[in-house]
Amino acid sequence: MVLRTIERIPLEGKRVFIRVDFNVPMDEYGTITDTTRIENAAPTITYAAQRGAKVIIASHLGRPKGKVDQRYSLSPVARQLTGILGKPVAMAENCIGPKVAEKIDGMKEGDILLLENLRFHPGEEANDASFSMELASMVDVYINDAFGAAHRAHASTEGITRYMDAVGVGFLMKREIDSLERFTANPERPSIMILGGAKVSDKIGIIGHLLNEVNTLLIGGGMAYTFLVAEGVEVGKSMVEADQVDQALRTVSEANRKGVKFLLPIDHVVGDRFDPKATKKIVPNGGIPSEWVAMDIGPKTARIFSDEIKEAKTIVWNGPMGVFEMEAFAKGTISIAKAIVQSKAFSIVGGGDTVAAVKMAGVADNISHISTGGGAILEFLEGKSLPGIEALRRIAEDR
Ligand code: AMP
Repeated sequence: MVLRTIERIPLEGKRVFIRVDFNVPMDEYGTITDTTRIENAAPTITYAAQRGAKVIIASHLGRPKGKVDQRYSLSPVARQLTGILGKPVAMAENCIGPKVAEKIDGMKEGDILLLENLRFHPGEEANDASFSMELASMVDVYINDAFGAAHRAHASTEGITRYMDAVGVGFLMKREIDSLERFTANPERPSIMILGGAKVSDKIGIIGHLLNEVNTLLIGGGMAYTFLVAEGVEVGKSMVEADQVDQALRTVSEANRKGVKFLLPIDHVVGDRFDPKATKKIVPNGGIPSEWVAMDIGPKTARIFSDEIKEAKTIVWNGPMGVFEMEAFAKGTISIAKAIVQSKAFSIVGGGDTVAAVKMAGVADNISHISTGGGAILEFLEGKSLPGIEALRRIAEDR
């Protein structure tokens, strides 16, 4: 990684802006239902505070669409962060403006201030130059620790870097990039990408790119059925993206040409309707009744996929193998999670649903790296440049 990490930047007495991803899920009462993102950001914040920085934290939360909307206030996060850090975290009522500047002026070394939701201003998502400049004018050092937002060119992830001299990445961002590069740059082989979930259109670009990188692709979940249709298999009422069938066919022949093992399900758990209480049965390819829906990979597929996984040295997994939220159709996904931790591979799991699935299977602690990025991980693997990372790379190379 050519990026400068926070450890290489003098912090003492400096006003250090840390862009984190505190876009946490909340229930209708404003209670945070999963604090993982806050816990993940804690090491960088603690490090900066211990080094004598005046720590100014910024994040977005939800989609307030450029207007102040108290439902998306970061105040509950400030309270939670105080508990996690064991140190008081002050809350600013805005992220720019004279009152915030005054608060920052009053900070002492080691103090921590959380700015209010960046997306209360339209300039954030518009990557507006004057908003970016205003953020930059309040601080001396810029640290990006928000991998989950790195695929967006917003003021706090991209624009601000144009007006800063000292920029770098935090520990979480470093871990994310280092882990993904272990997969994309010269991985230990065999390397396997496991893809599932609903939308083939989200992931077909990655598949195309990865055909140059991986030894094996295992495809499950709803997205598999577009490929099966392309191969002439009857899939009943299973999920299919008709406009992706041609591309799917081209991808399969490309995989064959490049000698990449491209495995699709050979059997399925099907339901008579898309419902947790559906009547279910296991059928081979060609056996899906015309009115039934494929809800999970079948046991033979799970065994074949697991055998591949156990031999792998590097694995990335994104997307469940079936409708794992319904207990009756979670088996395939859980068996894949278990196979990954039985292998000796370096394993990366990304995407909210897939992370939830490894937690459900009780194996999250044995995954080498649980990524905090959803869209960001997909774009990284697709070989796209992520604006939040590119901005810092450009500066690291320039200076
Ligand atoms: P994605 O966001 O594209 O990774 O999709 C995740 C969703 O895909 C989860 O909510 C799963 O329930 C869903 N899913 C997985 N397999 C299937 C399937 N065979 N049919 C319909 N939905 C599925």
